[in-house]
Amino acid sequence: MPTVRGIQLPAATLLIGDSRIDRTGGGSYTQINPSTGEELAEVTLATAAEVDQAVRAANDAQADWQSLLPTKRRDLIMAFADLLDDHHEEMSVLRSVELGAPKKQGKGLNMAVEYMRYFAGWVDKLEGSTIPLGTSVLNYTVPEPYGTVAALTPWNGGVVSATMKVVPALVAGNCVVLKPSEVATLAPLRFGELALEAGIPSGVLNVIPGGVSAGEALVAHPGIDKISFTGSTTTARQVMAGAATNLTPVILELGGKSANIVFADADIDAAVMTTVFTALAGMSGQGCVLPTRLLVEDSIYDQVEELTVAAAAALNVGRPFDPGVQAGPVISEVSLDRILDLISSATQRGDGTLLTGGHRLEGDLSSGFFVRPTVFGNVDNASPVARDEIFGPVISLIRFSDEADAIHVANDSTYGLGGLVFTRDIARGHRVAAALEVGSVGINAFAPMPPSAPFGGVKHSGFGREGGLVGVREFVQDKNIYVDLST
Ligand code: NAD
Repeated sequence: MPTVRGIQLPAATLLIGDSRIDRTGGGSYTQINPSTGEELAEVTLATAAEVDQAVRAANDAQADWQSLLPTKRRDLIMAFADLLDDHHEEMSVLRSVELGAPKKQGKGLNMAVEYMRYFAGWVDKLEGSTIPLGTSVLNYTVPEPYGTVAALTPWNGGVVSATMKVVPALVAGNCVVLKPSEVATLAPLRFGELALEAGIPSGVLNVIPGGVSAGEALVAHPGIDKISFTGSTTTARQVMAGAATNLTPVILELGGKSANIVFADADIDAAVMTTVFTALAGMSGQGCVLPTRLLVEDSIYDQVEELTVAAAAALNVGRPFDPGVQAGPVISEVSLDRILDLISSATQRGDGTLLTGGHRLEGDLSSGFFVRPTVFGNVDNASPVARDEIFGPVISLIRFSDEADAIHVANDSTYGLGGLVFTRDIARGHRVAAALEVGSVGINAFAPMPPSAPFGGVKHSGFGREGGLVGVREFVQDKNIYVDLST
């Protein structure tokens, strides 16, 4: 197996039960390193046959997993978290290699591990209730797992997205078939291996990279009892149609076009830097909840525009392991071409004024898929650049006149994932947060998605929640039991 920075890359094969499958009728997908354009792995793709095999493995393992003592299940998930934590450096290298995201220095906060430990704490606390119906009746509820959960994740989700679905499902006593996107499979596959190494029984978590046909077979499979999907709004419609075959319930975590609303009384530097470092750097704008629309009060518009352009132009774009790099490439040549096309159409149509960026990086970086961070000014909120999810390092500055106008513009979007408000008037912060049609709001900060808080969207950003107790309860059904005590 090839190594990168001393880390051996996992085999890009399917993991069903405790077996590796390296040949299927579905052929393979060549995974490319987005920073170099070089081949990273030849990914074995699941077909309907392997989907069926994985679902059966999960179905077979489920009764034993559910009947484990809750404390035992908790300990196994905790052991999985500890092992993932021990492999922090390896997982961090895999993430940077396959996603191009700048490598974080030091250990830092490992989000997936934090989520796992939080969820594991719920295993022995998922209580039912008793319903008062008088002294001659005992009526109680039991939260029961669905059975087998299909978890479908996007290429940018990596181990965090997998954790947010897989672990609460396991906590509740379900088994899981995880289908990561074929575009980035290495970290999710290592995640599956570590679960086995931690002692999670064979078949409880199966990982099957695959493309569209594998996803379609999985969501329509009769052995799947619940679907948790993260991906684009367009794909979600197909997932819902497939789920209709067996009336399988779904959770959908989809795209976004979040607004950051900056009032004249705000800490303007903080508002600008938050936008630039979340929506342009880091994942190069390839994140669902990033504030890609910067809504600015008229009186400070020129100042904010100047600061934003300067901060965007100063971003150090480069390969993930190079020192000082703040922004990486986009995921693929296809994405790069799509983003450049969108920028060019927006410029030609006059959606706004192209203020900085808008082109591919050449020279040393020409073999990778690097787009210079891009800012459009004076954008019309009705134009495509303000309405469509670009999923690249592109932000739109949009003017507003007052609070009511800001709320109107922010809500004038088909999406409803997140929103931000920057103001020193805390009452206004709360007022605006309440008025935004979104799943989460950050006041004077980009909300860091703590594991104990719910995350999810409204409108075309989906439904259902990940994180928090609500994110665990997505994977149980309450059974009601009525006992007649009078006879
Ligand atoms: P995508 O919709 O193309 O793919 C998502 C997953 O669905 C992949 O595993 C893919 O193979 C699978 N798939 C594709 N077609 C399918 C079909 N017909 N039936 C079943 N499965 C199918 O998304 P992507 O390009 O991998 O990821 C980017 C998208 O994900 C963006 O829209 C982004 O906003 C969204 N996203 C949302 C969140 C969130 O939590 N809300 C988080 C990360 C990414």
